[in-house]
Amino acid sequence: MPAELINGTAIARQVREDVARGVAELVATGGAAPGLATVLIGDDPASEVYVRNKRRACTAAGMIDQHRHLPGDVDQATAAALIDQLAADPAVSGILLQLPTPAHLDVEVLLARIPADKDVDGLTVANAGLLAQGRPGLRPCTPSGVMALLDQHDVPLQGAEAVVVGRSVLVGKPMAHLLLERHATVTTCHSRTRDLAEVCRRADVLVVAAGIPGLIGPEAVKPAATVIDVGIHRSGNGLRGDVDTAAVAEVASRITPVPGGVGPMTIALLLANTLTAARRQQGRADGPINGTTAS
Ligand code: ADP
Repeated sequence: MPAELINGTAIARQVREDVARGVAELVATGGAAPGLATVLIGDDPASEVYVRNKRRACTAAGMIDQHRHLPGDVDQATAAALIDQLAADPAVSGILLQLPTPAHLDVEVLLARIPADKDVDGLTVANAGLLAQGRPGLRPCTPSGVMALLDQHDVPLQGAEAVVVGRSVLVGKPMAHLLLERHATVTTCHSRTRDLAEVCRRADVLVVAAGIPGLIGPEAVKPAATVIDVGIHRSGNGLRGDVDTAAVAEVASRITPVPGGVGPMTIALLLANTLTAARRQQGRADGPINGTTAS
């Protein structure tokens, strides 16, 4: 029987509605609406689209759009000064530096200036360290989105074999930590892994974030596994992921489509992180957002 499709578009909509309710409640109880500062440097068309979508989602959730745009030839000191100014601004709850930044800038140095409690992308060394130690912090949006998908489908994680394909700072590494936090037995694969298919076949939960179209076929999937495809690639006039979805759906019990799987969750979790950041800055307790426990 073909696998059930995990509908990321619908689950992301629920998360966004929960966030909008949380924002309304914060404001109704005398708090300030969260402000999200998206920082775009230069005019890369793909980045412009991503930032525009984030700003729209932010406004739709009742948050304040604090977008800033710097020219592509801006110098490091000016970019750093903008981050510092946003860091000090109480109207800014979250700062998102859109990546990639122009090559002449030292992005690590810029990211390091974002205070951990405003780092809604969860990309700073401080938040990565907090995650690695299992301490509360802001978690990266894409892997948090994957956790929300798994939770919405009640995928058992405790004691389960989870395999993550990819070890990027953005996805693979934090993904492995989040699964570990939920007591899965986690294996991380990467470009040097010997016999990738054999390792993947162990997985009850297989998360693929390698950036290689169609890397995972049915031979790499355990019958009845849950398969999450984080990859996104332009192919012809459509999109495809790292997983051969049609073939793998004959083996797996649940699978995310591309598009409409993990993709929509990233922005939803960015909003959730911004609300969490605002609540914490305003001395409020964390609230659950659609079953995703803030940590
Ligand atoms: P993302 O940030 O979306 O996870 P990156 O391109 O930054 O993507 O990282 C790709 C990751 O996938 C790297 O960690 C790399 O080791 C891993 N990877 C690349 N090729 C393979 C492969 N053939 N098998 C397993 N993992 C791979």
